[in-house]
Amino acid sequence: MKTLSGVAASSGASVAPAWLHAVADFDIPEGEVGDRDAELAKLRKAVEAVGRALEEKAEQASGELAEVLDAQAMMARDPELADSAERVIQDQGTSAARAIIDAGEDYAEVLAASESEYMAARAEDIRDVCKRIARSAVGAPETSVADLSEPSVIVATELPPADVASLDPQLVQGIATEEGSRTSHTAIVARALGIPAVVAVKGLTAAASKDSPIAVDGDGGEVHIEPDDDTKSRLEGKAAARAKRREDLKARVPDGLAATKDGHRVEVGANVGAVAELEAALDEGAEAVGLLRTELLYIGHSEAPDEDEQVGVYGAMAELLGDRRLVVRTFDFGADKPVPFLDVDAEENPALGVRGIRLARLHPDLITTQLRAIVRATEGGRRIGVMAPMVATAEEADWFVEQVNAAGGQEAGLEVGAMVEVPAAVLVAGDLAERLDFLSIGTNDLTQYLHAADRQLGALSYLQDPFSPALLRAVQTICLGARDKAWVGVCGEAAGDPAWALIAVGLGVTELSVGSDSLLEVRVALAEATLDDCRSAAAEAIGAPGPDAAHRIATGLLA
Ligand code: PEP
Ligand code: MG
Repeated sequence: MKTLSGVAASSGASVAPAWLHAVADFDIPEGEVGDRDAELAKLRKAVEAVGRALEEKAEQASGELAEVLDAQAMMARDPELADSAERVIQDQGTSAARAIIDAGEDYAEVLAASESEYMAARAEDIRDVCKRIARSAVGAPETSVADLSEPSVIVATELPPADVASLDPQLVQGIATEEGSRTSHTAIVARALGIPAVVAVKGLTAAASKDSPIAVDGDGGEVHIEPDDDTKSRLEGKAAARAKRREDLKARVPDGLAATKDGHRVEVGANVGAVAELEAALDEGAEAVGLLRTELLYIGHSEAPDEDEQVGVYGAMAELLGDRRLVVRTFDFGADKPVPFLDVDAEENPALGVRGIRLARLHPDLITTQLRAIVRATEGGRRIGVMAPMVATAEEADWFVEQVNAAGGQEAGLEVGAMVEVPAAVLVAGDLAERLDFLSIGTNDLTQYLHAADRQLGALSYLQDPFSPALLRAVQTICLGARDKAWVGVCGEAAGDPAWALIAVGLGVTELSVGSDSLLEVRVALAEATLDDCRSAAAEAIGAPGPDAAHRIATGLLA
């Protein structure tokens, strides 16, 4: 048995024979071409062919995969990408294949340099699309994904979404890739399809051989080649326990709206970034969307999406939600989340730089378009809230309310809120609450800023514990400040931990927005604890000497 470590990308475990996904290389014509017009024609034909092929695959796919393929089709048809490639062909006589690969690489490099894991992962999508266009331009066959006929674990260097679309999900028991990250599309699609996956496994393709048994541990982030009997039964046991846990939670979750055992109402919504994710969340019983991260909409665009395009996305989500609330967060770009179409200056301390609402103030045209689209999506009386990220002062809140109202927010009945993720906002939560309808606590950033510890830095992970008494006391300060003025929710990752969620409820939080895979756990935990239990545990936890003690107290609340 050989064990390789990677990044746990999609939960679950499986053991099956390896199926190696090989991508045949093709030659890219280098040097100056004789007929530039012919190359231009080849490029346009290839762009059209790849765009259409991706759209067709998207139509046949469903959910997250369909959305990812649609996004890739849009990248293929991006006029700025084609313009850059065409300019190089015209000016330098480069081949169509070389020109599109180089043009794509320019975009990909901007994204890859991002500190945001999600943004960096999009670089691979652009590279994949451009490689497909180049392949089509030189007439090389499409990468062939042979039909799987037996249940298998897919082993690949990377697995572009268009290839995932060609696989039979019934037969794919697991996915292991040498490249990728938790936010690469392989990982997103694997999670959406419930296939265990481990990505970024160095040495994987060299170590695995065709048909040899391979075990994927999507929770532990390990791949075992030719696993021994102990490992096999351990993983099979894990998979069975997971399935049993889910059945158990389903049996325990009560019908109707989420509330504590004694009927104290707490709205449990989902964090989503795309329509397909919302579909999955609704299947899990989401009562709302408490955080729509809108950055995804802008990725792969050479210009910001226009108002109509944004109305399309927000409107489709609001439609799916019916009378349930949709909270849209305005774009949180800047610093570690660069957008190719914005010229932002390099900064010494990006996390403390021009991001979120600060960036919106420098680009009033972008924020106005987004707010108008959000207002238009309320048509038909849909319940929509809008919130700004990174708000630090009451003056910023006033500015945001002004922008929302100038876009017609008041007449449309938009609820207006702010994320509380900057320590200054905690201290002035009461002032913010006077101006706004709600506050949503972003524990991911709030924890990093409270402890002055970069959330991406592995060495400081001990300072990112959401049970930190400093964070719990911050939540208490916010709830006290906002009392009787605005409702308080939590949309950071911490809300998805059922024990933490109960402490937050004890401190006064009335809305929780979590990843869809946490919805069941959180709803069940709420239904099995009383508000008094939550309050007494919260009072004890905020006085705990450290996160471990607070964690123990919180865990005591779980049945
Ligand atoms: C947060 O900071 O908690 C949050 C929800 O925002 P993001 O993770 O998108 O920065
Ligand atoms: Mg944040």
